[in-house]
Amino acid sequence: MELLTILNHCHRHRGFVHHSARFSADKKSIEVKVRPRQGAVAICSGCQQPRPGYDQLPERRFEFIPLWGFLVFLLYSRRRVNCPECGVVAEHLPWSAGKRQSTIAYLLFLARWARKLSWKETAEAFHSSWDQVCDAVEYVVGWGLEHRSLGSIRAIGVDEIQYAKGHKYLTLVYQIDAGLTRLLWVGRERTIESFQGFFTTIGGQLASQIEFVCSDMWQPYLDVIREKCAQALHILDRFHIVAKMNKALDEVRAAETRRMAQEGHAPLLKKSRWCVLKRKENLTAQQKIRLRDILRYNLQTVRAYLLKEDFQQFWEYNSPHWAGMFLDFWCFQTMRSRIEPMKKIARTLRSHRELLLNYFKARKAYSSGVIEGLNNKAKVTMRKSYGFRTFRILELALYHSLGKLPEPELTHEFF
Ligand SMILES: [Zn+2]
Repeated sequence: MELLTILNHCHRHRGFVHHSARFSADKKSIEVKVRPRQGAVAICSGCQQPRPGYDQLPERRFEFIPLWGFLVFLLYSRRRVNCPECGVVAEHLPWSAGKRQSTIAYLLFLARWARKLSWKETAEAFHSSWDQVCDAVEYVVGWGLEHRSLGSIRAIGVDEIQYAKGHKYLTLVYQIDAGLTRLLWVGRERTIESFQGFFTTIGGQLASQIEFVCSDMWQPYLDVIREKCAQALHILDRFHIVAKMNKALDEVRAAETRRMAQEGHAPLLKKSRWCVLKRKENLTAQQKIRLRDILRYNLQTVRAYLLKEDFQQFWEYNSPHWAGMFLDFWCFQTMRSRIEPMKKIARTLRSHRELLLNYFKARKAYSSGVIEGLNNKAKVTMRKSYGFRTFRILELALYHSLGKLPEPELTHEFF
């Protein structure tokens, strides 16, 4: 079987044939000449109609999926047509994406691998370059955003994620419907303006149909939600509250450890960090023993830990009323604890009481786990080292791995 037979079978495009193949001079790549099928009329790239030919442009190379360690290029001299509507323009090439030097098949090939591997690994695996992989992802994401259907959106979650030092944040908006979770939007910064950008993108009609919005306690988000989604039930995400509480506890522990060291006490809290931060059921046997040890002392860390553990109960309630009673009591207790970071949490929770209780009104439907899962995936995506941590690159990478975007269809499943 010849290479051309295979290519004409799997990369079939009406009006074109692969007609000869040879090695390049350095034997590192295979070059396949493509020509119009006999009698096939060129299609105008402006209006997609068959039009009479005008002339031919110089031969160009279009990179195709590599084979057995050889790069593969299609060589083709593009025709220009004389179109009564569009004038003299280049013909439409079904395998090529505009000015890009790669075929659509290769762009898609690289982009799919770039979802499994890091961009760097993808480039290395296929003798490509980081820029080429980036270009492929850019093409596929651009196509996907243009062709995606927003449908109806019932529930959204908004989340912020830090992507560089010095308060560089992104705002991410997810759809968190029961049947469909995906990243809908990426915004620069975490300001009122950035989150408003999402609502501009989806339009007022769709926004007015949103029933649930999940967020953390970041004030600009709260403001935008109140303005743009007044009809929706606004829920504070459990994951973010637990994270805030852990952060406060960690502050208490770190400060106390320092203080004890300065005062010359025995290092009681050594190796205690994960014992108090992890959930009890996730502790190792050794950490459990360590935790039991620590709990015998009357330390601020221990008291803060017990308050945190106690708060877990909040999420178990079914009725907003009883959950509210519990919350009030917990805040009252915590305010008397004389542990400033914990008191700060209590004050924050108090001032968001109503939103916190919405969690129970939504019957817990749209919270625990979903946003946390997406947030973790987003972090993994960012960590897979995309070279430059610029907004544009991260935006592409995030849409690519979390957007569930549609892709252009190929003539063949190459991979
Ligand atoms: Zn035309």
